[in-house]
Amino acid sequence: MKRDEMLARGLAKRGPWDIVVVGGGATGAGVAVDAASRGYEVLLLEQHDFGKGTSSRSTKLVHGGVRYLEQGNISLVMEALKERGLLRQNAPHLVHDLAFIVPSYTWWESPFYGFGLKVYNMLSGRYKFGPTKRLSKQETLEHLPTIKTEGLRGGVVYYDGQFDDSRLLINLIATAAKHGATVLNYAKVIGLTRDDDGFINGVNIRDEESGREVHTDARVVVNATGAFCDGVRRMVDPEATTMIAPSQGIHLVFDRSFLPGDSAIMVPHTPDGRVMFAIPWHNHTLVGTTDVAIETASLEPLPTEAEIDFILETAGRYLEKAPTRADILSTFAGIRPLVKSGDGTNTASLSRDHTIHIDNSGLLTIAGGKWTTYRNMAEDCVNQAATLAELDERECVTRKLQVHGYHASAEEFGDLAVYGSDAPAIQDLARADSALSERLHSELPIIAAEVVWATRNEMARTVEDVLARRTRALFLNARAAIAMAPRVAELMAKELGRDTAWQSKEVSEFNDVARGYLVSPGEPPA
Ligand SMILES: Cc1cc2nc3c(=O)[nH]c(=O)nc-3n(C[C@H](O)[C@H](O)[C@H](O)COP(=O)(O)OP(=O)(O)OC[C@H]3O[C@@H](n4cnc5c(N)ncnc54)[C@H](O)[C@@H]3O)c2cc1C
Repeated sequence: MKRDEMLARGLAKRGPWDIVVVGGGATGAGVAVDAASRGYEVLLLEQHDFGKGTSSRSTKLVHGGVRYLEQGNISLVMEALKERGLLRQNAPHLVHDLAFIVPSYTWWESPFYGFGLKVYNMLSGRYKFGPTKRLSKQETLEHLPTIKTEGLRGGVVYYDGQFDDSRLLINLIATAAKHGATVLNYAKVIGLTRDDDGFINGVNIRDEESGREVHTDARVVVNATGAFCDGVRRMVDPEATTMIAPSQGIHLVFDRSFLPGDSAIMVPHTPDGRVMFAIPWHNHTLVGTTDVAIETASLEPLPTEAEIDFILETAGRYLEKAPTRADILSTFAGIRPLVKSGDGTNTASLSRDHTIHIDNSGLLTIAGGKWTTYRNMAEDCVNQAATLAELDERECVTRKLQVHGYHASAEEFGDLAVYGSDAPAIQDLARADSALSERLHSELPIIAAEVVWATRNEMARTVEDVLARRTRALFLNARAAIAMAPRVAELMAKELGRDTAWQSKEVSEFNDVARGYLVSPGEPPA
């Protein structure tokens, strides 16, 4: 994927696109894959980088959602469990089984959660990941050597999926492109146009790199802008009612010593009734998440001190060695686009399912749901979009569509496993030029060839694109990422033909963003 070619293709287009998708997160990318693979002409527009929004900030679980089972939402869980299985089948290089242990400290927890999690496993039908089992204290400790032993009685093990969210996103964008979609990052939709009857017939776009503004025609526009979707709806109807109740979750990342085994911890009820996970991810420990209603969504949300303290405190209840602020390598926040129903005044009326809403102007908005169900959401959305735009009826083909990078045994590529079938090409880059085989930081296994690859083939345009979403450096270790930035800028400048002033500007802008991922090791400010 080359941005210049995508831009040229977009500008050369005559006549309307079948579908213009606004938003390059999981939802928009899924819609683009579905529509392009049915043979429709598709343009996807993302105002920043692909995955800049919530879709790079998830807990990295491909799951049915155990807590929704507890709420009795069986159909939501069954749908997600099926999608979990399809995702592992279509993107095995990125989705892995992971054992989750629910530790028990009272006599009733193991039988209680054991039963519920057996039902969870049963609901996955032929898409099972692994058997649910009750564990003795000794077995629990074998899975979780750092779990707090005082009062520990045993546990329950169940299986779910784990993935790298922004890598999957980039691979979905590549899949859409492979099927003919034109995909553009740094292309913001700044307006929607209507025909004489008041129906949406196109979008106004600003190329955020050149500042140039253009118009393009569309038979139907899909608004897949997540927490920002009300803003896009109000471009057409300033009086549009609010659909989204944004809710923020944060994660803390620690080194691997806090969770050295291959299993995750699942706490079904934190003291204030939330679910919390501690997960091994890219050789680190990821702990989260909170769920706090917020007023307005922003592209770079910041964790609050209260959220950081809450996670530290909760993790400390379950780990022998309680993590402290000084142990935090990175922290990141994401905004859940929960959809209001009814009057939307209480959280019970916030749907965890996805919603498709069609405004009077014909603008189709899809929001809510979760990463795990992106494919099913997209199928639903494209069916409705095709009807709305009177496109030829074409069957959805994504149930068995391999995601770009598909590889059945990607583990053989070691640290490059997440690239799947692209890994050999990155290895070739590193072999051809020894400077590209060097690690960019001693604490992370990222090599220079990955920067070149991302810039040449994955439309990375800024240092942040490489360090936050093509590699996961910023999410794993913010200080290491800051240290890597100058070398990343130098490598990118060579690829993109930029000068040293560009490099300095890039490093400085990256550092501004990265500061939000750092936590000061001392006491929080009063
Ligand atoms: C803390 C947290 C943890 C989660 N964990 C999980 C999990 O473990 N598993 C799971 O399945 N789900 C999880 N989810 C849910 C999942 O991450 C989200 O449902 C999903 O990422 C939403 O994707 P989206 O594409 O709708 O939104 P986004 O990813 O936010 O994408 C919307 C995009 O639209 C773009 N945009 C906005 N305005 C414009 C415009 N005018 N022009 C062009 N582009 C525009 C934005 O820049 C953004 O990139 C989690 C959510 C949160 C908040």
